[in-house]
Amino acid sequence: MRVNTLKRAAIAFALALPGAAIAAVVAAPAAYADGCYTWNRTLAQGRSGDDVRQLQIRVAGWAGNRNIVENDGRYGPKTAAAVKRFQQAYGLRADGVAGPQTYAKLYQLQDNDCTPAHFSYNELDNGCGGSGWSGGPLSAAQTKQNALRTMWKLEALRKSLGDKPLNVSSGYRSRACNNQVGGASDSQHLYGNAADVTSRTSSLCQVARGARNNGFSGIYGPGYPDHDDHVHVDSRRENNRDNSSNTTSWSAPDCGI
Ligand SMILES: [Zn+2]
Repeated sequence: MRVNTLKRAAIAFALALPGAAIAAVVAAPAAYADGCYTWNRTLAQGRSGDDVRQLQIRVAGWAGNRNIVENDGRYGPKTAAAVKRFQQAYGLRADGVAGPQTYAKLYQLQDNDCTPAHFSYNELDNGCGGSGWSGGPLSAAQTKQNALRTMWKLEALRKSLGDKPLNVSSGYRSRACNNQVGGASDSQHLYGNAADVTSRTSSLCQVARGARNNGFSGIYGPGYPDHDDHVHVDSRRENNRDNSSNTTSWSAPDCGI
């Protein structure tokens, strides 16, 4: 987020105008330059483009139970439903259309490096102390892109749990790191698609149950072998580069999952 002079100027300008003119100003998403990414048009069902793809990354965590938002740059019903849930969660008018109010909230949430407010690249690249996103099956850039979407899903999970802090104990792992910690041979951690989560304020079962609504197609928690001290969440359905089928896989027997 960056509150810059352009934005201040736009607010001052709007305040100086009578009601009808303010509506016209608000309808045009302009006069704002975010440090990460700026949307230049209102988006709704039927639109496509890179601006839709950018939006899909940021609402991926609002997919709804057992759903995912595909990162395909096409604004279909699932994207609209996710935008609507995002709007509801943040107290905006929930119409499933991404306009100035939705963008303003996204600008407020995103840092200049495009990560959401409560998660960072450093935190996700910590499998064995930080490896710069290299040493995995994907390019460093692809891995980092996956980690970004993972973080936006975590931000949604955090918000859904009542803005209670979540800690990532293991994010991206290089092959060497994954071997060192005894991870599965084709672990989603290798792709930047996974996070092991703990919390001091929510129970692990609350985290695991909540994650079902936030676009995570892989969830392992209490009752699943070696997962009694964290919840593993991942995006295996969206991963076409691994050896597993793109299906949902959840198990946390102690939480009824
Ligand atoms: Zn894990």
